Amino acid sequence: MAGTLRIPGFVNAHSHTFQRALRGRAAGGDFWAWRDVMLAEAERQTPDLVREAYEQGYEEMIAAGYTAVGEFHYVGVPEAHAAAAAAAAAGIELVVLHVAYARGGLDRFRQESVREYLEQVESLRAAGIRVGLAPHSVRACPAEWLEEIGRYAAADGLPLHVHADEQPKEIEECLAEHGCRPIELLARRGCLSERTTVVHATHANGAELDLIAAHGSTICACPTTEADLGDGFLPAERVRMRGIAICIGSDSNVRIDPLEELRELEGIARRQTGRRGVFSTDDLYGFGREVGARSLGVDAWPEIEIDLGHRSLRGVESEHVLAAAIAGCAADVVVS
Ligand SMILES: [Zn+2]
Repeated sequence: MAGTLRIPGFVNAHSHTFQRALRGRAAGGDFWAWRDVMLAEAERQTPDLVREAYEQGYEEMIAAGYTAVGEFHYVGVPEAHAAAAAAAAAGIELVVLHVAYARGGLDRFRQESVREYLEQVESLRAAGIRVGLAPHSVRACPAEWLEEIGRYAAADGLPLHVHADEQPKEIEECLAEHGCRPIELLARRGCLSERTTVVHATHANGAELDLIAAHGSTICACPTTEADLGDGFLPAERVRMRGIAICIGSDSNVRIDPLEELRELEGIARRQTGRRGVFSTDDLYGFGREVGARSLGVDAWPEIEIDLGHRSLRGVESEHVLAAAIAGCAADVVVS
């Protein structure tokens, strides 16, 4: 077998590209200790640094088969323009998921008001940058901000992405402040819809998953990052049983490999259920492509080619190539 197989490119629905710089650093401790190192890296970002490092990051994504990316962006408006320039230079479809941040984090993350945040979104749209709304989390955004952002996203038909239930502490804090869990708060404040993507949902309980299903929202799983950070793993079987759509993200970019994200997702489901093939090969490619594209509001994104002569595909019959790529190949089977 030789030649190549043309397939749609993968869609990376959740990336913080600057965090690529942290790979191999910040070992030990827990999520919150990692977060301190991450914040220091975020603090030193400049438009020039973003322009250079993001182009390299996006080139790596393209080489791995991702041809569209949602950049969950909280390091400033000039840096959002730099990210757009980097994406154009690298040749990847970009959606800037511009982040609303009211409290916590660094000064540079925060807007004074939700009005200021929405003005920033407007300015990016006016510059021709494709955007989505992204209240960072219920940690970072009070309920009034969530309401206003949910309203704007609905009125303009824009994607809304939000981190939720990544860490138990965030759930405890939300219960203490609001008397409900993060995804319940998002539902109450008008932030759950079919345009919503909940990033992680690692520790979501049954009632929260029911809400995601009832609103037709999507979950973005980031298995390699969730493993790296010790977050836990997606309740994959409970998500599947509810018919909730799943997409994937490289998130912290500790690994840039869509096949590995999909393999991990299926591996988690197998460990949870004791069954094999919990998700079909078609399901998994859908998570890696079409669901991600819908989550970002992207209609068209470039195709890729799989190298059928690659050493890790030797001896594989043509009808098994796609399944074998997820089961047993790294992203270097993608022709770069
Ligand atoms: Zn994230």
